[in-house]
Amino acid sequence: MKIVDLRSDTVTQPGAAMRAAMAAAAVGDDVYGEDPSVRALQDRLASDLGFARGLFMPSGTQANLVALLAHCQRGDEYLVGMEAHTYKYEAGGAAVLGSIQPQPVANADDGSLALELLDKAVKPDDPHFARTRLLALENTWQGRVLARDYVRRAIDWARSRGLGLHLDGARLFNAAIASGTPPAELAAGFDTVSVCLSKGLGAPVGSVLLGSESLIESARRWRKMLGGGMRQSGILAAAGLHALDHHVARLAEDHARAQTLAAGLRAIKGIRVQACHTNMVFIDVPTERLRDLDRHLREAGVRASIGYLPSVRLVTHLDIDDAALARAIEAFARFS
Ligand SMILES: *Cc1c(COP(=O)(O)O)cnc(C)c1O
Repeated sequence: MKIVDLRSDTVTQPGAAMRAAMAAAAVGDDVYGEDPSVRALQDRLASDLGFARGLFMPSGTQANLVALLAHCQRGDEYLVGMEAHTYKYEAGGAAVLGSIQPQPVANADDGSLALELLDKAVKPDDPHFARTRLLALENTWQGRVLARDYVRRAIDWARSRGLGLHLDGARLFNAAIASGTPPAELAAGFDTVSVCLSKGLGAPVGSVLLGSESLIESARRWRKMLGGGMRQSGILAAAGLHALDHHVARLAEDHARAQTLAAGLRAIKGIRVQACHTNMVFIDVPTERLRDLDRHLREAGVRASIGYLPSVRLVTHLDIDDAALARAIEAFARFS
C-alpha cells in the first residue's frame, strides 16, 4: 500500500523529468564559483526576487544561519518570533555557532510580531546590553501568508530603528501563489531572503539566500566555514531550476487540496479544524486520543505530523493527488 504522507511537503520524490534535468546538468566546481547550473539558479532567483546576488546552500537551516552570521557580529542580537523556524527549529545555531543572541517575541495568531512588543525588545545603546541588529520575519508562517500591510509597517519600523531585515521565505512561493502577489513584491524591503527548493517546489535538496553584493560575499565565507561549500552541486541546482520552471504555478493545486482536506475533516465529529491556509491544515483532537490517532492512521497507510507541534499538521504537496486525499479523509472518518 502506498503511504499517503501528509507530514510535510519535504517528503516529495523527484520525478522522472526532474531526474532527467539533474542527469543532464552542466557542472563545475562551485567552491571556485564555476558551476554553470548553480550560477544560473542563483542568478535567476536573484533577478526574479529583485536582489543583486544569490547563494545556493544545502538547506534552509544553513541559509538562515548564514544570513544571521552575515548580518550580526558576536554579541549582537536579532528579534525573532517565538514560534519562528530561525528561533525554534534550527537547533539554536545562531547562539551556538554565531554567539548571536536571539530575542524572541510572541507571534500573534497571524504570524506577525506586534510592533509595540518589538519596540520594547530593542535594547538601548549601553554596555549592559547586546546590540540589537536585525529583525527576522517568516513568510509563510505556519502556512499563513503575512499581511502585506503588516510587513510594510514592520519594515518601516525596523528601518526607523536602524535594524537590518531578514525574511525566512522557505515557502515564499506558496505565499506568492496564495496571495496573488509577485514573489519580488513579498521580498521587497528585506536585506536578505532565504527560499527553499525542497519544500513545496519538490526539489530533493537546496535553498538559496538572496541579498546584496556585500552580504552575499560575506555569506559565501560563512557557508564555506559551516561546510556548505559544495563542488559539482549543479546536479542539485538543476533540480531547483526544473522546480522553478514546472512546480510554482501548480502550488495552487496543493492549496486547493488543503481546502478540500479541511472541508472533509470539518465534517468529522471529534476533529476541530483550527486553520487552513496555503498547503497546511492544522487540526485539534483531544490530547488523550493523539496516540490512538497516530496508530490508526499508520495502519491505514496515512502519515500526519503528530506530537511534534501543539496541533496535528497535515501538508499537501506534489505527491498528494485527489485519490490520496480521499484516502486520508476516509481514514480520519473511520477513526471517530
Ligand atoms: C523547512 C524550513 C526551513 C529550512 O529547513 P531545512 O529543512 O533546513 O531546509 C526554514 N524555515 C522554515 C519556515 C521552514 O519551513
